Amino acid sequence: MELKSPVSGVKGIGPKKTELLSRLKIHTIEDLLYFFPRKYEDRTRVWTIMEAPFDRDVLICGRVVSKKLPGNPYLKKAPMRVVVEDNTGAVELVFFNARYIAGQFQVGEEYTLFGKITLNKGKRQMAHPEFHRTGEKDDVRGILPVYPLTEGVSQHQMRSWQAAALPCAKDIEEWLPNHVVMTRHLCSPSYAVENIHFPQDARRVKESRYRLVFEELLVLQTGLFYIKKGRSSQSEGIIIPKTVSVQPFLDRLPFQLTEGQKKVWKEIEADLAAHKPMNRLVQGDVGSGKTAVAEIALFKAAKAGFQGVMMAPTELLAKQHLASLRRDLTPLGLRVEMLSSSTKAKERRQLLSALEQGEIHVLVGTHAIIQPDVKFHKLGLVITDEQHRFGVNQRALLTEKGQNPNVLVMTATPIPRTLAVILFGDLDISVINTMPAGRKPVKTHLRYNDSRGKVYDFVASQVAEGRQCYVVAPLIEESEALDCRSAEELFEEISAKYPKLRVALVHGAMKQQEKDSVMERFAAGGIDILVSTVVIEVGIDVANATVMVIENCERFGLAQLHQLRGRVGRSSLQSHCILICGKESEVSAKRNEIMVNSSDGFTIAEEDLKLRGPGEIFGTRQHGLPELNIADLVKHVDVLEEVKEVALDILEEDPYLRDGENQVLRDRVQKMFGENIQLQL
Ligand code: ADP
Ligand code: MG
Repeated sequence: MELKSPVSGVKGIGPKKTELLSRLKIHTIEDLLYFFPRKYEDRTRVWTIMEAPFDRDVLICGRVVSKKLPGNPYLKKAPMRVVVEDNTGAVELVFFNARYIAGQFQVGEEYTLFGKITLNKGKRQMAHPEFHRTGEKDDVRGILPVYPLTEGVSQHQMRSWQAAALPCAKDIEEWLPNHVVMTRHLCSPSYAVENIHFPQDARRVKESRYRLVFEELLVLQTGLFYIKKGRSSQSEGIIIPKTVSVQPFLDRLPFQLTEGQKKVWKEIEADLAAHKPMNRLVQGDVGSGKTAVAEIALFKAAKAGFQGVMMAPTELLAKQHLASLRRDLTPLGLRVEMLSSSTKAKERRQLLSALEQGEIHVLVGTHAIIQPDVKFHKLGLVITDEQHRFGVNQRALLTEKGQNPNVLVMTATPIPRTLAVILFGDLDISVINTMPAGRKPVKTHLRYNDSRGKVYDFVASQVAEGRQCYVVAPLIEESEALDCRSAEELFEEISAKYPKLRVALVHGAMKQQEKDSVMERFAAGGIDILVSTVVIEVGIDVANATVMVIENCERFGLAQLHQLRGRVGRSSLQSHCILICGKESEVSAKRNEIMVNSSDGFTIAEEDLKLRGPGEIFGTRQHGLPELNIADLVKHVDVLEEVKEVALDILEEDPYLRDGENQVLRDRVQKMFGENIQLQL
């Protein structure tokens, strides 16, 4: 058996198990060995029966003093009972439907047992423990790995296969540069693999895990840098000199820029004037005024003779941008147009030709603007709004429409810096950390089902004062399976209870056109209460809306709740966010507390990350981020920092990973990223 042999060579793995394992992406012995335990069961400590804690797995040793089979063999329900004793006390083992076990216990012999002890009417009991005759070669003792398994494979099987494959671990050769191994104090990969499966103590687990996390993150980081470098070619970017004044634009703005906006604008201005193309991510909480900053950049690019493009994730958002860009830029002599998938063919043709002639200064649109026939005359600035909704590749395609244009990415999803480094790699990061003056922080209230009546009376009272409200539900229609509110149900209820109010419904299953028309009516003040699903989450801006009611708030992610809350509080009016909690659990209580007490998107994002992990939040797939096997982007941030340097060093010396000594790294990168990466030969 060798590392590259198929797993079917392991005793006990037949065609059926081979199939099951392939679902876990395990094909070779090497794959098997790199399938790591999720945690361990510590079975090193032998407890005395009296001292063993209750309700948690423990290992005990004792002599069988009696065993009792159910009197009536036809009465299957009666359990078999075995009493075991040590010097300190006795425990009764209970086995249901397991008569066959009776023969495996001999009175007078000593056994090692592993399971939970519970106290039942003053009697210690252990139900269905794992057991073995003490002294026999057994798998009950030691530190045992626990694997993340698929159905049809048991822990016991996986352990025995790993044990069978383990001798091959010694063939795993060191593949990291010697100085890295030395300076980072890494153990060898063969040691790491052996000890991650069957460690003798916690220290070895720690050493091994560190090595394996390190190498996994190194592969990840190297791949990401490689991809990024391929995109941002070395040649010069487009320079938009400092001397081009944006004063005419600023003079027309109805407000002063906030400190945060000024700071970020300075950073952008410097990027634009530099030789290297700009590659900047602007983060700012909802309502912090990112769009205004983007507009200044677009104005400046146009004044310098370049076209700009702004891509938004939905048609509605694109329209909103179009409206504000036209309001702010058209009077200054710039032509702003919009392109989306609903643009009519004839109009589209005219638009594309004007764009190619350079007659259009700013193009706004949805992903429809990525299409190959959309050509610019001189593209100088690419802006994507709400970036987390786009794949990395979409941004790249847009960038390719110009000759190294400047790139600005705007996101309202506060991404903790640590993670932003991975997700956006070499992007420089700016944060707008202030809110426009005069905004009152949104008041957040937590309520339960029993006060829903009052909540809606409050909503009605706000409407009576001329305000508008959002009501968000987790589902579109009622569901038998899920015990929570649906938008349709709420829509009916609210319409019936408040017949005089103008109530409307919008959800994701509606046609885009219908959705847009409802949203537009709401924005124009023609709707008092908008009942919806999360479709309203992104970007819409209605200053008169002052109440956001979120039903079954426990069903939403923290970051999502924060985004939803950001839909209100967009003026000097006092706004409210009312979270109605349907079912409280420990996690939801913690989340509710965070929401009520914090209005800072970054704090909320960090907490969300801790509660849910990065994969769930960012849909890592979408980012082209591969799944990780042992490393955790949150827990292992410090390792990530170390790895970054190493990856940069390696790529500096060997940009295409062609050196023989980087062969394994190259293979691993290829394997991790699959078709998302094209390594050059
Ligand atoms: P974001 O995109 O960051 O959520 P927007 O750019 O949509 O925020 O801005 C939200 C609202 O605040 C808009 O109506 C905008 O006109 C307004 N706004 C932006 N900057 C300022 C400012 N410095 N002072 C006052 N209002 C501002
Ligand atoms: Mg915005």
